[in-house]
Amino acid sequence: MGKQTPGLTRNQIRRSLRELVDPSPTDKEKNEIRKFFNYECAYCGKKIKQNKEGHIDHLVSSALGGVNNIANRVLSCADCNEKQKLDMPWEEFLSQKNLNKDLLQKRKEKISQW
Ligand SMILES: [Zn+2]
Repeated sequence: MGKQTPGLTRNQIRRSLRELVDPSPTDKEKNEIRKFFNYECAYCGKKIKQNKEGHIDHLVSSALGGVNNIANRVLSCADCNEKQKLDMPWEEFLSQKNLNKDLLQKRKEKISQW
């Protein structure tokens, strides 16, 4: 069973406070993100058919000081978000994903335009 450590409590408080000053995107905003990225993962281009499959990923992860705000969120498939990118800087992650130079440039631009 997980024990509640002071560190855990601190993180929970930090998250709650952050949600007050820096709320996560609303459902409407999340739909705007999905539409902007053409229902494709911003990193690998995988089609995201259902809302459940798509993650609204932090472009700059919270661990690196990224905010919850919609401007810092992109559409991502579960694989990229949960298993591969983690706290890696997004440009570095993208470079690993797309070996084709043109495609890499295209994805970078798309993310930068958001
Ligand atoms: Zn992906």
